[in-house]
Parts: sequence; structure tokens; C-alpha cells
Amino acid sequence: MQRYEESKLYRIRHSAAHIMAQAVLERFPEAQIAIGPPIEDGFYYDFDLPRPLTPEDLAAIEQRMRDIIREGHPFVRRVVSAEEARRLFANQVYKLELIDGLEKGAMDEDGNPIEGPAVITTYRHDTFEDLCRGPHVENSSEINPDAVSITFREPAGAYWRGDEKRPMLTRIYGTAWETAQELEEYLNLLEEAKKRDHRVLGQKLNLFVIDPLVGKGLPLWKPRGALVREALIDFMREAQREAGYLPVVTPHIGNLDLYRTSGHYPYYSDSQYAPIQVDEEQFLIKPMNCPHHCMIYKSEMHSYRDLPLRLAEFGTVYRYEKSGELSGLTRVRGFTQDDAHLFVTPEQLLSEFIGVADLIQRVFRTLGMADFRVRVGTRDPESDKYVGAPESWEKATAAIIEACQHMGLDYTIEAGEAAFYGPKLDFIVRDVLKREWQLGTVQVDYNLPERFQLEYIGADGEPHRPVMIHRAPFGSLERFMGILIEHFAGAFPAWLSPVQVTLIPVADRHVPYAQQIAARLKAAGFRAEVDDSNNRMSNKIRIAQGQKVPYMLVVGDRDVEAGAVSVRLRSGEDLGAMPVEAFIARLGEIVKSRALALWP
Ligand SMILES: [Zn+2]
Ligand SMILES: [Zn+2]
Repeated sequence: MQRYEESKLYRIRHSAAHIMAQAVLERFPEAQIAIGPPIEDGFYYDFDLPRPLTPEDLAAIEQRMRDIIREGHPFVRRVVSAEEARRLFANQVYKLELIDGLEKGAMDEDGNPIEGPAVITTYRHDTFEDLCRGPHVENSSEINPDAVSITFREPAGAYWRGDEKRPMLTRIYGTAWETAQELEEYLNLLEEAKKRDHRVLGQKLNLFVIDPLVGKGLPLWKPRGALVREALIDFMREAQREAGYLPVVTPHIGNLDLYRTSGHYPYYSDSQYAPIQVDEEQFLIKPMNCPHHCMIYKSEMHSYRDLPLRLAEFGTVYRYEKSGELSGLTRVRGFTQDDAHLFVTPEQLLSEFIGVADLIQRVFRTLGMADFRVRVGTRDPESDKYVGAPESWEKATAAIIEACQHMGLDYTIEAGEAAFYGPKLDFIVRDVLKREWQLGTVQVDYNLPERFQLEYIGADGEPHRPVMIHRAPFGSLERFMGILIEHFAGAFPAWLSPVQVTLIPVADRHVPYAQQIAARLKAAGFRAEVDDSNNRMSNKIRIAQGQKVPYMLVVGDRDVEAGAVSVRLRSGEDLGAMPVEAFIARLGEIVKSRALALWP
């Protein structure tokens, strides 16, 4: 597969960013321009503008971009000295700062850190020249003027260099495609994504809340959200029990020496909270569960007959994320991993790897996320940053690839994508909007068993070092819930729904009957509610539908007489009356089988 950075679309978007900057400078000659790279679905450019943008500004800039594109300007690269660059951008303070960085060799023209001094290059088209290493289209006529938009998304504030202490700039977003139809499809997907936004649905469906008094990136799960989460956890527990995992529980903080031993401190201290001093000791708020699980392994002697040992924990960890990067449930500072560590002999690696990959696939299929691909991250043969013997790496990589082939998985191999401690497998899941999410990472690890001096006694009576597998199918439960809310647009399958059944009495006199049935449903383990409000029946149905309750049981005179319920699905389908027993039995099957369909 071609890398995005090498694709034509990437060059089109990068060139469109330059054209946008030209159009902005023509409208606001006093504007300061910062940086403008391509991004996943488009591009942006950051500006320091004399006044806030109006919709008219954006429409005019977009129109001007189309004209510039149609004029067919070549994009011309040239190499300049730092001095020349400074003259060229004499009035542009951000560019001057970037030129300093380029000259010192600490960063590129997008402000990203690099090694060694950089060649300073510019790209020019028409009247606009930018500090840039490209790549670009040869000529603006390669861009389709009808497949470019900057009005599809509101401009947003962005700090220069992402630094909250630096000036706030205006980021104008754009997107560009090869055809107008592709642009339209993309805009439709965006519209659908907006409707499914988990932050909006989370509030509407009463699932979770994030309050600044509690802290940024620290979501609170309300009862309805917690019920969905519990259902997911139960599901995973059941799958893990069947696959021979054992539960463990470990604390939320650990002695700093534990993380020194594991190497997580100080190497990952950027993403951790500062140590806390208690009496004479220092502790770290847990950034990962692995070291704790290693200590559980180490707490007793192991023979090869005890292995594999599979230790699982829904472990909550805390990591520092910049506040500007926090977003709903997808980027948070505290989250729970469906974590597990498998301690295996080298001979068991292949079969255990297949077991893990199998469990992950079952989980995704159950959730209706059967559209995934897998990526094998192997080591970069040129680099020496890896730990573990080369033969072990070869064996582990071969085991991962063999596992993929054995399972008929469509995989790609990416050299250099391994962790420094071992090769890995990533499941990349596509949701209903065709967005890709990296979930279900499985990593082979030679490093921690070494650092913690883990051993088992082999059949030869000698001590050997086990291999460790890290795996978390959901990854972070918070992020996964965010993805699931959007995937299902809040309409969870019955087994995950926080309220599975709403009873709707037609008149007040039917309330006792409705309550009696709700009590029976609850006794059978279902989540049921009675809407005994004064609303009209049609209103009650609309409210339950809005809350995405899968089943509505309408009860009136005839139902009371017959010991029946009239079943309506959230989709609007009316299944008519059926005996209460029959409904309960059917619901039981649907929930137990974790069916995706409401009435299969
Ligand atoms: Zn550029
Ligand atoms: Zn781990």
C-alpha cells in the first residue's frame, strides 16, 4: 500500500494549503503566516489575522483559491541560504523563528524536531513563496478546483507550536480531493459523523460527563454509561475465562523503583505524572500495569508445566496528555485498559499468539466490527535500538506472521514499526463511517522478563527466561466506548443497551400491570423501566426511541386481559402483541447470544 505522504492526494493538499495562504495574504496583507501542512483528510494553515474571520471572508478566500488553481501556476522549488530566507520573510515573525530552527538544525519548517542541519528550501507559485520542503504538484492545474473546500469546517484557534504560552493563531482547515464526487462523499461522511459525535450523544443519552472541576480528560461515568461499560467488561471477562486467563488486581500507584526496574521511569516521564513523595519513598501514579504483573509472576517459582500463565486485569492507568489534545473520550488522562500479560515459553509463543488474535477477532465480530486489517510491526534491520537476541526476534516475527497466515488474516508488514522490546501486531478496525481505528495491539516482549529477571524451570531442570505477550483488545475502555457510541450512533445492540426495555402504559390504569412486568424482567436479569409520566403514548414512544431503547412494550386493556405485551422496536417496527413469557424467553436468547440485530 502506498504511503499517504507519497500519494498524489498529499501533494494536492499541500499545494492547496499554499494557495490558501496566498488567498489569505491577498485579503489580509498584514497577516502573519505560520505553518500549513497536509493532514489526514485535508490540510490547514495557521495565521495571525487582524480580525476574526467572517463567513464572507471564507467564501471569498475559497473563491479566490479556485481562480488561482485555474490560472495554472507552476510550483517551483529552490534552495536558499538562511540569510536569503530571512530577507524573503523579513516581515513574517513565525517564519523567522522557523528559519532559526532550520539553521540550528533542531527542527523542520513545520516546527517538528529533526536531527542535523537542514537544507533550507522554498516553493513558489504565482506571487506566493513559502518556506517548505514539499512535495508539491508540478502545476496548480493538477488540482481540481471543484474538489476543494475550506468552508466545510469552522476555523479554530491553535497555539503557535502547540504551546499555550505562545500566541493563539487562527487555523483555517481545508480539504481537497481528486474529484467533486469524492469531495461530496467526504462531506456526507462528516455530516453523519457530526450526528454520531460521542460527546453529543454521551450527553443526550446520559452516558458520561466531563467537568472542569473534576479535571480535564477525566470522564465520570453516569449510571447509563457505566452499565454499557459493565456489559463490555462482563463480555471480556467471559471470553478471557474461556481462554484460560486468570484475574489479578493491582494498586493505582507503585514505588518509583518498580518503574526504574521496568525502565518506564525515567524513559517515559513525558507522559507520566510527577512522582509523589510519601514518607521516605516516592511513588508513581500507575502509567501501565505491566510491572505489577511481572511482580506477581516473580512472587513464586514457576516450572514449564505452569506456563502459559495468563494474567488479566481491568487496570486503570494515568498518563499525561497536553490539555489541547484532550477530546471527549478519545484522548483522556485516566483510562482503564482491558489489559493482560501472558508469560510463555518460546515454544508456546505461536499457539498463544494465535489464541490472543483469535480472542480479539471474536470480540470485534461480536461488536459488528468485522471490517479490519492487521499490521505486523517488525524491527528495522538497520537500527540497533532493539533489545533481545536477533534469533528471538526472528522467531517471534515468524510466529506472528505464521499466526496471521494460520488465521487467514489479511496482513501487511511494516519494518521499523516494532516496539524496541519486541515485534507487534495491530488490528486496524474500520467503523461504519469507514474511519480507521487502531485497536487490539498484541506485543511480544523480551525486555521486561530480562529486567525483572523472570524465570521458569524447564524440562531440563535449568532456569529459563519466559517471553511476555502484552495484549489489550479494547485498548482503553474510554476510547473504545467513544468509538462504539459513534459506531452504533448510540443505538447499542440489546445486550449493551443501558435500558433494554421501556414499558409504556396506555393509560394510568395500566401502570400497575406495566410495573409488574418490569419487575419480572428485572428479576430475569434485564434492564427495564416504566414510563409512568403524564405524556401521551405517542410521546412516550418518541422519548424511548430518542433514548435508543431497543424494545418498547406498550400495554393497554387487551394486553392486561390476555397477559400480553405489544412489542415495538426502536427502529419503528411494530411486532404486535405476544404473551409476556414469549417475549421474555426471546429477549433472553437475544441478549445471551449478544445478537447485533434486535429481533433476529
Ligand atoms: Zn509547504
Ligand atoms: Zn503491558
